[in-house]
Amino acid sequence: MSSSPEGTRLAQQLRFDQQHIWHPYASMTQPSPVFMVTGAEGVRLHLAEGQQLIDGMASWWSVIHGYNHPRLNQAAQQQLERFAHVMFGGLTHEPAVELAQRLVDITPRGLDRVFFADSGSVSVEVAIKMALQYQQARQRPEKNRLISLRRGYHGDTFAAMSVCDPVTGMHQLFKGALAEQIFLPAPSTPWGEAINSNDLTALEHTLAQHHHEVAALILEPVVQGAGGMRFYSADYLRHARRLCDQYDVLLIADEIATGFGRTGALFACDHAGITPDILCVGKALTGGYMTLAATLTQAHLADTISSSGAGCFMHGPTFMANPLACAVACESIDLLLEQDWYSRIQQLQQQLRTELAPAAQLSCVSDVRCLGGIGVIELHQPVSLQQIQPWFVEQGVWVRPFGKLVYIMPPYIISEADLKFLCAAIIRVLQRL
Ligand SMILES: *Cc1c(COP(=O)(O)O)cnc(C)c1O
Repeated sequence: MSSSPEGTRLAQQLRFDQQHIWHPYASMTQPSPVFMVTGAEGVRLHLAEGQQLIDGMASWWSVIHGYNHPRLNQAAQQQLERFAHVMFGGLTHEPAVELAQRLVDITPRGLDRVFFADSGSVSVEVAIKMALQYQQARQRPEKNRLISLRRGYHGDTFAAMSVCDPVTGMHQLFKGALAEQIFLPAPSTPWGEAINSNDLTALEHTLAQHHHEVAALILEPVVQGAGGMRFYSADYLRHARRLCDQYDVLLIADEIATGFGRTGALFACDHAGITPDILCVGKALTGGYMTLAATLTQAHLADTISSSGAGCFMHGPTFMANPLACAVACESIDLLLEQDWYSRIQQLQQQLRTELAPAAQLSCVSDVRCLGGIGVIELHQPVSLQQIQPWFVEQGVWVRPFGKLVYIMPPYIISEADLKFLCAAIIRVLQRL
């Protein structure tokens, strides 16, 4: 194929890519190989060289209904024929109103003020700004720091980065430019158990010691994603909610990864029956079609911010509430709610547990854990992506580990046979390590 015109063109494009385009967390002097995608359908990515890969990543948690979905395509096309975008300052449109209604309906009770943001990181920036403006408005400007959990991940922009794990978030690289926040140990109480005394003491002490200077506690409920793929007790959230109330600190739940059913509840906060003061959603919001996120808050917070000296909330992106993205997001939420999503995620969890269990026998593996539609294999040693990525592709699957973590969160529509194939392929690759 490489001698054909298409083969030459492909080689040229890949060379241009390597020389000129940044990929996520990539080096430009030692670029990792990238694979050219020419199509995507259901759970399969089609590569230029002709292979088809079963996608275990759902394009980083987002493609919950699979690629090239007829209903999502139609929603985008119909909105495209009306208009692709209008500014949101002074104007509104049906897709934004429809989407806000759906989000208010399905998120924990009381979250009924919606801010549309362009990406997950921006929605976290917005959440942090809301918390700071709220404390300002209450004449508590000294409450301007955040408490966060170690092993957390909240995005790559500056405020978001400041609440990421200080080690994996490489805080020393940006020292001086990054706000210094207060960190709690990563929760140690396992999923399904009542909060242990270490976690409770850490929460209590940190809030007691710092509440006078803290605007909000931010966390990823139940599943800490990109900072370590850790699962923890829902009871931890109940105590975090109680103590935040007791110490007059806001609670921000970052559900950018966990939202829309992934953990076995529509939102991970639902496992604990709590309502955060501020909630961030993103990733699966548009079924992985377009970038869109939202920050929701409660009426009393929005009212306090709005009646402050500033008189408004200080944020307004150019592409706020992009109509194409909102239209697709509405359809994606409808698709999710029309099905028995709860049983679907239970089945996924069951099958992931069964199919990944044999990995626990491998000498390179330290832990195997599954929750909802998430399967994680933790290794003793970090893997070399350069080495392992081509092996997954050879096996016909798309899996992208980081550090010691080989993990999957496939599209919800994956068939039993395809999930079996995906898990078996992962185990075959790990056997070669
Ligand atoms: C991915 C992610 C973000 C950042 O979202 P982007 O759209 O990549 O900016 C923030 N928080 C969590 C929990 C995430 O998983």
